[in-house]
Amino acid sequence: MSEKKDDNLMEKIVSLCKRRGFVFPSSEIYGGFAAVYDYGNYGSELSKNIKNEWWKAMVQLREDIVGLDSGIVMSPRIWEASGHVSGFSDPLAECKNCHARLRVDHLLEDAGVFADEKMSEEEINELFKANLDKIKCPTCGKHDFSDARKFNLLVKSNLGNFTSNWDKDPVYLRGETCQGIYVNYKNVLNSARVKVPFGIAQIGKAFRNEITARQFIFRTREFEQMEMQYFVKPEQEMEEYEKLRQARWNYYLELGIKKENLKWHKHENLVFYAKEAYDIEYNFPFGFKELEGIHARGDYDLSQHGKFSGKNLSYVDPETNESYLPHIIESSVGVGRTMLAVLTDAYAEEAVDGEIRTVLKFPPRLAPIKVAIFPLLKNKPELVGKAHEIYDELKKNYMCEFDDSGNIGKRYRRQDEIGTPYCVTVDFESLEDEAVTVRDRDTMTQERIKIAELERYLENKLK
Ligand code: ATP
Repeated sequence: MSEKKDDNLMEKIVSLCKRRGFVFPSSEIYGGFAAVYDYGNYGSELSKNIKNEWWKAMVQLREDIVGLDSGIVMSPRIWEASGHVSGFSDPLAECKNCHARLRVDHLLEDAGVFADEKMSEEEINELFKANLDKIKCPTCGKHDFSDARKFNLLVKSNLGNFTSNWDKDPVYLRGETCQGIYVNYKNVLNSARVKVPFGIAQIGKAFRNEITARQFIFRTREFEQMEMQYFVKPEQEMEEYEKLRQARWNYYLELGIKKENLKWHKHENLVFYAKEAYDIEYNFPFGFKELEGIHARGDYDLSQHGKFSGKNLSYVDPETNESYLPHIIESSVGVGRTMLAVLTDAYAEEAVDGEIRTVLKFPPRLAPIKVAIFPLLKNKPELVGKAHEIYDELKKNYMCEFDDSGNIGKRYRRQDEIGTPYCVTVDFESLEDEAVTVRDRDTMTQERIKIAELERYLENKLK
């Protein structure tokens, strides 16, 4: 069961995100649009930095992994082959009192009962009824529910279909990005210089009609995934799987996530084709929940696409001429979920001079703004001019912000709240000694640095 932290932490993060331009609710002026969020100026920087770090670890630093950017809409046959059309569903029930729509497997899980994904509607309902005394509606606390029915999560579209009854023959917005990888595996093999074992990595939007989506950017209906599928020789599947698990765990530590906020969760009940499955869980404000899935999938994906497409998807080893269907191990994580983990990890409140300062202690690589530059006073053109000169230089290499509003203390607090690691202030002395004050976000200490050495100083600090 998950542990609870500061009860208000989630509210505080949500409120800071809105106030400071990280995350806005979708379509707000029209009354909102549930389970979709928009990223503001700092949110879009943060999400871009998260994606860049992932891409660097997965593609740039790996000789054996190449990137891909496939379409969101693909042949609907792909989703039949993958099993999503028939089986990608969650059990939904409605609270008869407050009409909240609820996921029955989650209600059961909270009551300590496991509901297998493969269960039929009847089986789920039997289990639901047998445990009803342990379950109450998380919204109103009552015990009166409709029967559970299985609800398919795929989102339909009429793209390319100009008939009036398109929903009889829909296409789907992809429910996961990895299907684009599986169906391009031969193209990549024939064009990139890769040999098994090799991987294909992709970042992109995915869509799911999630029944309950009320944990901010943790679970949304439109979201972005970062997925890497690694194609291996069948005998080497488990060995490669262990390597991938280790690499992914180390990745989060290197990213700066606190170790005590991460843990492994082993899946006890595997889907029939899976060899092994682990999640890396993060200690979100609502407890430990899945951040990333790392799964050993056997040959399920390629054999299904082989069957449904009629194409031979075997790999021929160039050295031994041996022909086989590669097995796949995968790493799959959401950008929004990572962003919530990074925000949770970074959020701190500290008492300073009798006041509370809120600070986001982002690792510098993830911080939306790396350096803020201030003239001490806004009505002194010499200071403003010099500060602007510094800003114009630094912005060539870093996301910087120029701020001349309010007193310095307020400007520091604002930068603390958006997680800017360094603030540079130009004061009257700067005009004499060609030096500036550099203030460190975490220690709040200030150092006097020569303007000529500022870039090198920051480069070392921000590495
Ligand atoms: P959950 O059990 O939380 O619904 P899942 O097991 O269905 O997740 P996967 O299909 O394995 O998730 O997707 C891989 C990753 O994609 C997840 O670990 C998560 O980081 C992200 N993800 C999945 N669904 C969503 C969503 N609705 N919103 C945001 N991120 C998501």
